[in-house]
Amino acid sequence: MMNCKEANQLMSQELDRKLTWRELAALKFHVTLCDGCANARKQVSFIHHACKHAFGLEDEKK
Ligand SMILES: [Zn+2]
Repeated sequence: MMNCKEANQLMSQELDRKLTWRELAALKFHVTLCDGCANARKQVSFIHHACKHAFGLEDEKK
């Protein structure tokens, strides 16, 4: 299992590129077991979505 440092690296890489399914699976697995990283991921994805929205880069239709 990855450690918190690796999880955090993947979280920031996730903003720049699409993670492989393997990386994503490992990251998801880590955040289900690690509260610290789960919170960090929530914040990162919130900021990411807020930025995408602000710059008009939102490409997902919901
Ligand atoms: Zn962690």
